[in-house]
Amino acid sequence: MRRYLCASLVLLSLLAAACSATTLPPTPGGNLQAVATFSVVGDLVRNVGGDKIELTTLVGPGRDTHTFEPSPADAKALVEAAVIVENGLGFETWLDDLYASSTSTAKRVVVTDGIKPRLASEGDKAGATDPHVWHSVDNAVQMVKNIRDALAKADPANAATYQANADAYLTQLQELDAWVFAHVKAVPEARRKLVTTHDTFGYFAARYGFAVVGTVLPSSTEGASPSAKELAALIEAVKAQGVPAVFAENVSSNALLNQVAAEAGVKVVASLYTDALGPSGSEGETYEKMVRYNVTTIVNALLP
Ligand SMILES: [Zn+2]
Repeated sequence: MRRYLCASLVLLSLLAAACSATTLPPTPGGNLQAVATFSVVGDLVRNVGGDKIELTTLVGPGRDTHTFEPSPADAKALVEAAVIVENGLGFETWLDDLYASSTSTAKRVVVTDGIKPRLASEGDKAGATDPHVWHSVDNAVQMVKNIRDALAKADPANAATYQANADAYLTQLQELDAWVFAHVKAVPEARRKLVTTHDTFGYFAARYGFAVVGTVLPSSTEGASPSAKELAALIEAVKAQGVPAVFAENVSSNALLNQVAAEAGVKVVASLYTDALGPSGSEGETYEKMVRYNVTTIVNALLP
């Protein structure tokens, strides 16, 4: 009896798997099932997809994509998805394995296609591409265009809606980019210096005229620890270059940054939103709010 029951259960679950495999994706008559890998890309996708998509974001607000460890729920989300929107440029190191093991057949869309990658400059990742494109708003413009085209292709019936949503959002982003340029002008060039825990502001610095003096972590990917010699060199650079302040991040432990600041005699400014949005209701809850908050905080800290 028990063996018979077990066999039936196995058969049932196989049938269920077979049925779900044939009805997915996208759900007929339902919304396009989309997965975004992390919160920043998730917000861009939400702005384009609006109410025509069901969006799942794997790495949520305040969480670190570099050190993310996927769960079975994440594999399930990939299986149910028609489209997976990823940053690329080596940011989601865990995604290839997760995608393969999930047996998902979703279309993968790399939103940074068409963006000229910057090279990670320091440590053991030298020569690798820097994935942190989103801190330059003109890169977000390109990402939104890629998202628009991908959603329209996956769901042609709603292409006009995706186009209209993207047009409206692109106008906002172009205004945001101009706002950043206008705002950073207040800071004298000699004081436009950034020190953070990890190397996240390269594209921001290149577009808006800042210098990245150094980072606490020696590489673009988190997890590696700096040597005592590297920390001493950073403290020396902060002093020598007259860096007015250093910036903590919402996704990083700031213990070493605090140590650098204490030894260099400069203030630590609490946290910028770097590799993740903030929670709902926070000043970093959307991409646009994140940029405005970061720029306002940086400008206020670096003003004479
Ligand atoms: Zn990062």
